[in-house]
Amino acid sequence: MDPVTQHRISQSPGIPRPSPTRSYWAVPPSNISQWGAQDVLPEKADIVIIGSGITGASIARTLLRELGENSFDVRIVMLEAREVCSGATARNGGHITPAWYHQYPELVKTYGKETAHEIIKFQVSHVHKLLSVAEEDGLLEDSQCRLTDSFDAYVDRTRFEIARENYTEYRKEEELSSLHQVTRLYEDKEQLQALQLSSSFSGVIGTVFGTMHAYRFVTGILSRLLKSHTANFQIFAETPCISITAASSTYVIETPKGTIRSTHIVHATNAWTSHLLPGFRRKIVPLRGEMTSQRPGTGLGFGQIPPSLSTTPSSSSNWQGSRTFIFYTGGKDGIFDYLTQQMQPCKVSSASKYPLPRTELMFGGGLAFNPELFCTQLGNTDDTQNIPELSKYLSSVLPCYFGENWGDDAESSEEDDRLNWGKGRTKASWSGLIGLSADSNPWVGRVPASLAEGRKLEVDKSRAGLADAGEWVCGGYSGEGMVNAWKCGAALAHMILGRCECPEWLPEPYTVSSERHAKAKLDDVLQSYI
Ligand SMILES: Cc1cc2nc3c(=O)[nH]c(=O)nc-3n(C[C@H](O)[C@H](O)[C@H](O)COP(=O)(O)OP(=O)(O)OC[C@H]3O[C@@H](n4cnc5c(N)ncnc54)[C@H](O)[C@@H]3O)c2cc1C
Repeated sequence: MDPVTQHRISQSPGIPRPSPTRSYWAVPPSNISQWGAQDVLPEKADIVIIGSGITGASIARTLLRELGENSFDVRIVMLEAREVCSGATARNGGHITPAWYHQYPELVKTYGKETAHEIIKFQVSHVHKLLSVAEEDGLLEDSQCRLTDSFDAYVDRTRFEIARENYTEYRKEEELSSLHQVTRLYEDKEQLQALQLSSSFSGVIGTVFGTMHAYRFVTGILSRLLKSHTANFQIFAETPCISITAASSTYVIETPKGTIRSTHIVHATNAWTSHLLPGFRRKIVPLRGEMTSQRPGTGLGFGQIPPSLSTTPSSSSNWQGSRTFIFYTGGKDGIFDYLTQQMQPCKVSSASKYPLPRTELMFGGGLAFNPELFCTQLGNTDDTQNIPELSKYLSSVLPCYFGENWGDDAESSEEDDRLNWGKGRTKASWSGLIGLSADSNPWVGRVPASLAEGRKLEVDKSRAGLADAGEWVCGGYSGEGMVNAWKCGAALAHMILGRCECPEWLPEPYTVSSERHAKAKLDDVLQSYI
């Protein structure tokens, strides 16, 4: 890595910059996007959660549900630097794609079989967990949370052959193969054609995972919490936490609108974690990525898969909105592009207050196809700008993946013109920050004072029903937040409630410890990308 990048990744990511690029997911904005922006901060709270993405939402929801009858006594404040849910959760690819055969050998090599299985089970369990949360909160329509046929498509023949070997090994493990309703290998030309892929692909591996509109999922959950706990759950948009100091028995949290004191601080700031927790510099590193929303055009989505190949019984000749793809295009693991599609309007009833989805293709990636470009995005926290090389790449590469099936351009609608979306195929491009973890795993748990600028309370007494006072962290999902953040957040909430040191269902390598901190070296993880 060049010295300029080395220097950049050792710096603070700062606080989120105002006016980030316009994410297609966040239009129209939720009616809580500016919640509390003009309100006066309370003087104190029991728990302050910094960050209002999926991690913060999971922590707040779990705390309030687990507190049960006492949930109206504990004062929880959520601080958000910009609009509510304006970080990675509002800017991502929407894939709920857990680790499986692909990551399996590396996980076994690093942690042994038992822990590798734990990590895969934990991630796979998110598919149904997110669906059940969306259902419980009446958000299935708004969040479009659903199962999809999920395809890993390989261009490079050698890479596909390695993938096929890993897939075969994975399927031999009863505990893992039983996690899947169905898995399929596609390698004949006709099978690949039936998937509407171009002739450049060597093979495809498929199963059923999921996709969702994470912005509407999170803002929907937070709206419900604000309604159910009006007196003791508050969100303050446009209120960055600038610094934290430890007084004798409470932390003092500084914002431009004044200070708030609290016995517990939760860092749910992912890519920005190391601004307030300098001990996490080079452990959770911002990595800027880019996404696009594209019109599906006229041909794509109407290919027939022979029923014997379909991964879900309901797959029909019109597969619009029911598939997700990861395109593995290069020789290294970190080189891939990812595509989901919003639902068909006819499949959404009018119960949703949002405009109907229009089968928009949501496409991102390209980040590691050029190592030099990748380095310039490491430690880069400017999500107010797009990455011109990536905008160009993402707007031009899909025809190579779908060949003649890509079809002709569709016209822009009046609605598109009114919202000032782009013409042609690409409606919008935007950037966002991934929190890259130095050992690829999330960091979940109590923060030792050594990683928090030495901040330590003299008296760590907290109110009854909560663990001893302290700072907590949950983040660093390395671009895989949809299959980690929800249950990591829930695990952290259990720890804050003092229920356990760590729930047994949280994979051990995800927990924060000084040993792990010393061992995790960013350079190791970068080998997958550069
Ligand atoms: C381009 C892109 C594509 C992705 N695609 C996928 C995908 O397809 N599937 C998948 O699983 N994952 C994907 N991810 C990763 C996923 O989106 C994240 O892992 C996840 O959203 C992280 O959620 P979070 O709540 O921890 O962080 P965020 O959503 O980033 O929320 C953190 C919040 O903290 C706020 N904040 C930060 N500092 C402060 C401060 N000092 N004071 C107050 N507020 C602060 C921020 O403004 C932000 O709103 C992608 C990420 C990106 C950027």
